[in-house]
Amino acid sequence: MFARDRARAGALRERYPHAAEVFGLYLALVETWESVGDRVPSDGAVEWAHVHVLPRVIEATAAHGPPLLAAAVRIAVGNGLLAPASGAGPPAALNGPLRTAGDSGGGPLGTARGSGGGLLDAWLAGEELAPVERYLARATMRVVPLSAPTGHEAGRRCPACGGAPQLSYRTAGDDPLVSGRRMLHCARCAHEWTFSATTCPQCGETGKRTVHAEAAPSGSEEPRVGRGTAAGDALFPHLRAESCEACRGYLIDVDLGRDPHAVPHVDELAAVPIDLHMADHGYTKITPNLMGF
Ligand SMILES: [Zn+2]
Ligand SMILES: [Zn+2]
Repeated sequence: MFARDRARAGALRERYPHAAEVFGLYLALVETWESVGDRVPSDGAVEWAHVHVLPRVIEATAAHGPPLLAAAVRIAVGNGLLAPASGAGPPAALNGPLRTAGDSGGGPLGTARGSGGGLLDAWLAGEELAPVERYLARATMRVVPLSAPTGHEAGRRCPACGGAPQLSYRTAGDDPLVSGRRMLHCARCAHEWTFSATTCPQCGETGKRTVHAEAAPSGSEEPRVGRGTAAGDALFPHLRAESCEACRGYLIDVDLGRDPHAVPHVDELAAVPIDLHMADHGYTKITPNLMGF
């Protein structure tokens, strides 16, 4: 199920030294997701993930994550992030190095979240979470099927779960009717859906789009990002940001015509230099990606 993710993350880790830590962590997460396999129960999946997946995500992050994220995760665990699930007791998988002595749960985070999946329920309900909590919830819920929403805005929201778009991509292909079709990829579940190529996926405004991409390499290590489409010899020839001047939102667009091997939701993680440029210019990503950019 994650074979393409694994292969692509391995290739991008070599290609993009600036993102080596991010892809190293992503590969560790893929291993965690694959180890869960198809064992997720259809009933009580969230509670199950809280007990069986979240601790593994925490361990993978502490071992392979960028130092700041790994430290933030340790602190969150120390603050009772894993405070379980109504009287279920701490998950057995926590008898590792992350289990703090005398931690009986009930820390400030645990008590605030109530019972059940705690953190995961809060994420599902769309509650405001700290970045590290959002990361842990997303990485854990990656293996949990989400149910269909009711009454959300059609088109700009995921038809499968109601989530916001993470990114868009253009399909490749020789068929002119199919080529260039724009797809949105959900930030909450793995679902993808077709969407207008000229409309803002956040506010619905049409025709106020600006494209930002890497200019031709200057010879320095740092990619230079500006308006327009990327040069063919750019570090990210297939990645660009599409912003909306009405709402100042943006997302990363992946052009499969320029790199047919791209796996959009994996490649998007490499676009950090573009994200930094967009933040510098006052744009806000519609949805931060798994790694928080
Ligand atoms: Zn979705
Ligand atoms: Zn907009």
